Amino acid sequence: MSFESLGLLPELLRAVREQGYETPTPIQSQAIPLVLEGRDLMGRAQTGTGKTAGFTLPLLQRLAPQASSSASPARHPIRALILTPTRELAMQVEESVRTYGKYIPLRSTTIFGGVNINPQTKALRAGAEILVATPGRLLDHHQQGNLNFSQLEVLVLDEADRMLDMGFIRDIQKIIALLPKSRQTLLFSATFTDEIKQLAAQFLKSPATVQITPQNTAAELVRQVVHPVDRERKRALLSHLITSRKLEQVLVFTRTKHGANRLSEQLDKDGISSMAIHGNKSQPQRIKALDDFKKGAVRVLVATDIAARGLDIDMLPHVVNYELPQVPEDYIHRIGRTGRAGAEGEALSLVCVDEHGLLKDIEKLLRKELPKDVVTGYAPDPSIPAEPIQTGRQGGGGRGRGPARPARSGAAPAPRGERGRHPSRPGARGK
Ligand code: AMP
Repeated sequence: MSFESLGLLPELLRAVREQGYETPTPIQSQAIPLVLEGRDLMGRAQTGTGKTAGFTLPLLQRLAPQASSSASPARHPIRALILTPTRELAMQVEESVRTYGKYIPLRSTTIFGGVNINPQTKALRAGAEILVATPGRLLDHHQQGNLNFSQLEVLVLDEADRMLDMGFIRDIQKIIALLPKSRQTLLFSATFTDEIKQLAAQFLKSPATVQITPQNTAAELVRQVVHPVDRERKRALLSHLITSRKLEQVLVFTRTKHGANRLSEQLDKDGISSMAIHGNKSQPQRIKALDDFKKGAVRVLVATDIAARGLDIDMLPHVVNYELPQVPEDYIHRIGRTGRAGAEGEALSLVCVDEHGLLKDIEKLLRKELPKDVVTGYAPDPSIPAEPIQTGRQGGGGRGRGPARPARSGAAPAPRGERGRHPSRPGARGK
């Protein structure tokens, strides 16, 4: 099965090729033809299955015939709405829309809570066919009269189960009531619980169903190991692993820019050639670092999540999570850099006591526990207490948009995205 045989437009095939994808994932090969036909769809698939491209590509294709290069906002009405539970997911989905829609003159924008509403209002007024939104902020914009859904053709509910978990059901119902009845609706969820089935029965019309078993996820192809270790000994353990196992081409993820720089300097002191890439480095600097890394002139590339995005670095033999990401989905994106297309890959995570809560979140998303392997000589000292995690906003390693995510430690559940918002919504928030 190839992307060509799915009947996608040349503009989309070109964008997919540029991403380096060779074959569609199972959810893509099943969902794309159904969405192109205009069917409603229930897809059971979690992050890591390629579901985002699975709905984004055919969505773009359905909207493409009326795409316009005109600058006039009137030529860019909202034609597709993608609802997501969190701002992180909204940002990732919109990034996919931009990536795959690069050669089609459709506009997209994203609206989510927790940030100033005015730039979003401005972007909405300028016009965008594809709107990616979290439910609460979308209703805020509706109240302010910023939205017109009369031209809407497609609704996507992404991670519907998480939206329900987060108490968004009333918001979702209110939003759907604003949309034209004649539309195509796609619902994606990691599970098909009774609640999800009810939601589908209420809002989807004789949907086709596509189910992807967890074995099909990218994450399953990668050998994943957690090395428990003390906070202060991570660097020594990393050097030990690289040296003793003679690892080459190692992509190491840190949470902050500052952390990336410091680690890279320390590795150099240990005699391991490395370079850091992050948002403070210019694009030519990043490209040079990447070239050196690919050529083998640099053994280790230390990167933040933001810096690694959009860079053509995958099919790598080793990915190391020097620090676990704050957002569990980022773990899947990180390890997706290795083991693609059946190639052998491994992802090592150095996890200290502060990160046990983050690890639990990741294991929950993966729906499995990761094997733990204590490296001889690096066993963690159980008397060391957990400390809050520095998100490095000042150093600037966090996400480029939105406010800092709260630091968290231990197993305490942390707010994610808009979680915890009261489902019945009192007036507008977020000045
Ligand atoms: P998703 O499940 O949509 O979050 O995607 C998970 C990861 O798989 C993302 O990093 C995508 O870039 C990647 N991906 C999506 N489709 C493909 C494909 N056909 N081949 C290889 N990687 C893919």
